[in-house]
Amino acid sequence: MQYIVLDLEWNQPVSYQSAAFRKVGDSLLFEVIQIGAAKLNERMEILDTVSIPICPTYYVTIHPRVKRMTGLSQEILCDAPDFPEGMAQFADWCGEDCVFLTWGGDDVSVLQQNVDFFRVERPLPKTYDLQQLYSKVMKHSGQTALKTAMEELQIEEEEDRAFHNAMHDAYYTAQVFRKMPEPPRVLEHEVQPRKLCHNERRSRFRITDAVPSVAQALVSEQLTAPRCPTCGQATRLVTELVPQAAGKYVALSRCQHHGLLFIKVRFGFLPDGQKGMHLSVLPANKQTRAYVHTKELQYQFKRKRGDYESVDIEDLSDVFGSNMPFEDA
Ligand SMILES: [Zn+2]
Repeated sequence: MQYIVLDLEWNQPVSYQSAAFRKVGDSLLFEVIQIGAAKLNERMEILDTVSIPICPTYYVTIHPRVKRMTGLSQEILCDAPDFPEGMAQFADWCGEDCVFLTWGGDDVSVLQQNVDFFRVERPLPKTYDLQQLYSKVMKHSGQTALKTAMEELQIEEEEDRAFHNAMHDAYYTAQVFRKMPEPPRVLEHEVQPRKLCHNERRSRFRITDAVPSVAQALVSEQLTAPRCPTCGQATRLVTELVPQAAGKYVALSRCQHHGLLFIKVRFGFLPDGQKGMHLSVLPANKQTRAYVHTKELQYQFKRKRGDYESVDIEDLSDVFGSNMPFEDA
């Protein structure tokens, strides 16, 4: 049996008002534009890697964010095969006796939606989630970014293998797989594709306010003196704006009339590809107060240790991984 480590890049509608989205958005939320994979045998040797570019059929305009991250453009993809043809090439490359491995469950969900939509008849092999095994072995709670796993296992980024290229990401994932203590235990973590859907409510409360950069937003009055939702007056931060995850910050602030407030900031991208943020200000309770104080202490400790020296706060590429529009989320 061979292990196929799979990674995809996909395009998204440029606008949820676009003709393409209105036509197919219910059953095709993202369109695959690159299949990348690495093939390993049971001795954990990498036998081959592959990159299959796919020319999108519906979302033909590559979203500016996707273009920036992947380097894939309409000009590059226009000569590529369409999805059914690309999948046929991929299946031939995979061979008969194989399983898929992915980092998290997003890729297999997007792949399954494309397979269903384009009526690709050959069923997908069973898929297992390496991220779940990794979290279990390393005793991490929640999800670990691939980059973090690479750092922890001392896997160096290679000069000619940039991230956000499906083949390179698959190759790095394969390196993580090989370095795990008992790689075959990944077969204990089968992952099922989840149904993707566009949710109006989610999209309305998503990123709304355009910002020039994360750094500038963090020192702007909107965040250093957030307005109280009750009286509208400027409040005073009583903690730092503490990074909680890529593009996410929390803080506590005090309104002189309404007491302690829980500040949540999320950075991301507006539909036109510009950076934006969503700010939420709510009355703090015992849990949120304790949470922010704990996070602040952890942050100060890690910062002293130098953990944040190489962190690029403007890099929001990981924000989306944990923000997939699943129907059951
Ligand atoms: Zn107030």
